[in-house]
Amino acid sequence: MTYEIVCNSCGAPLYSGFDLRSPGDVLKAADYRCRKCGVKLALSRFQVEVRKIDGSFD
Ligand SMILES: [Zn+2]
Repeated sequence: MTYEIVCNSCGAPLYSGFDLRSPGDVLKAADYRCRKCGVKLALSRFQVEVRKIDGSFD
């Protein structure tokens, strides 16, 4: 299971990994700003995507 937290403006992943992290921690680490498009990120508007990846290691 892979967790992704993405910018809801441009879709760039701000965090992806196997550990579920709180969006608040991820946003704080990113200084509340998307590194790709520069949009200011508000926690209340944030979106967490959980993606399950299987069958992709052949
Ligand atoms: Zn962005």
